[in-house]
Amino acid sequence: MNVRSDFPFFRQSPPVPVYLDNAATTQKPECVLRAIRDFYETTNANVHRGAHRTSRAATEAHEQARASVASFIGAASPSEIIFTSGTTEGINLVAQTLTYAGTLSAGDEIIVSTDSHHSNIVPWQLLCERTGAVLRVVPLTEDLRFDGEAYGKMLGERTVMVAVPMVSNALGLRLPVEEIIERAHSVGARVLLDAAQAVAHEPLDVQKMGCDFLAFSGHKVFAPTGTGVLWGRAELLDALPPWKGGGEMISSVTFAKTTYNQLPFKYEAGTPHICGNIVLAEALRYVRDLGLPAIRAHEQDLVERLCAGLAGMPEIRILGGAGGRTSLVSVHSPNVHHYDLGMLLDQMNVAVRTGHHCCQPLMQSLGITGTTRYSVALYNTEQDIDVALEATRRALDMLR
Ligand code: PLP
Repeated sequence: MNVRSDFPFFRQSPPVPVYLDNAATTQKPECVLRAIRDFYETTNANVHRGAHRTSRAATEAHEQARASVASFIGAASPSEIIFTSGTTEGINLVAQTLTYAGTLSAGDEIIVSTDSHHSNIVPWQLLCERTGAVLRVVPLTEDLRFDGEAYGKMLGERTVMVAVPMVSNALGLRLPVEEIIERAHSVGARVLLDAAQAVAHEPLDVQKMGCDFLAFSGHKVFAPTGTGVLWGRAELLDALPPWKGGGEMISSVTFAKTTYNQLPFKYEAGTPHICGNIVLAEALRYVRDLGLPAIRAHEQDLVERLCAGLAGMPEIRILGGAGGRTSLVSVHSPNVHHYDLGMLLDQMNVAVRTGHHCCQPLMQSLGITGTTRYSVALYNTEQDIDVALEATRRALDMLR
């Protein structure tokens, strides 16, 4: 896959970092940057409100973007696509509307996995504090996989929601989401998938997967920060109450009573990130044109090369082993602090992420404070991997 020239970031004056921090955020292709400029040069107006033609053009582009997102993730209708500021907001939307719905009783259960990002833990803790519901946590097996047996025992008639990442951002391992969904549905629970680490790396089809909600962030899939999507099945979103009040989410307002707009606008109070949402669709078009199967195959080769190189370094351990992983690898060493390794790699022009990766409970369960994480995207090359491996070897020599 030879797409690096599509990304102006890599064309800046040297030294351009060997960028292996894609799980945190991705670089943006020229077509996305051009779409931002085009929007503000030609189509900039507020949506849904104006009689004038620029507002109509902005509205049309915005709603066309919604339809493109729906098609990208296999949604039944664009009205199931709620534009958000990212994964975090999407999960909070579901947790808070469920809180406001008044349908939860004390003792109802929400299940998350140990390898969840804080944004798939804290919103549910808030819900539990306010409703008396209980948070249950599925442990990991010894090889750091989702423990299906423990999950099966946890599921029951009190289970209301199962919320899990499709891919763990700290370990890079894919969860068995198809099985998780089937088993949750067998007890009548709903399933929310956190697709933050999946959306740029594997095809998503919400209807085929059979989940109930799915959230992702635009910036992890080559779109600007501050963009994202919550998808939910229409009948579920319809049944939940609104959470933020303001313009656009209403049908009519009097001081005595307000009625609410239909989907998706009921959940989009205020002026949306118009440009960002339009550009998100452009980023998804870019990914779709390259083809997720081809992207995946390319990234798989890179990750295998990375794992093979890292596995040969006795000081470090690949968390979760080399197999069954997607686009990232986390390593830990009992003798080398992840922060020192990250700083030395930075001095050698290699950008990785160190720390707890917003997964403190996972780190606690592993008895460590953090890892060094290498994450790839479609523009990375074998040369990037080789440079990162050589830099890691040198850094470990220096830290020995
Ligand atoms: N979930 C996972 C698995 C993530 O990796 C991240 C970000 O790293 C998030 C949620 C939160 O995403 P955002 O900060 O874009 O809302």
